[in-house]
Amino acid sequence: MSTTARHADGTPCTHRVTPSGKPTEVDCSGRHDYAATCACGGWESTGTVKAALRYSHDSHRREAERAETSRA
Ligand SMILES: [Zn+2]
Ligand SMILES: [Zn+2]
Repeated sequence: MSTTARHADGTPCTHRVTPSGKPTEVDCSGRHDYAATCACGGWESTGTVKAALRYSHDSHRREAERAETSRA
């Protein structure tokens, strides 16, 4: 799973921020949410909490594994 931090306007945030997500650079509006994608290309999600995205991705992986098993 790869996650991209985004500003409120949807542009990717590659700036350095404080551990709580506050901006440290003048041209940064702060991190609004994260866009997460799976390496398989069949899953993507957005959310403000990384841990929740990770949990959601874990469920996706379990479902994908189940689908594999039932196909075999
Ligand atoms: Zn930024
Ligand atoms: Zn996947």
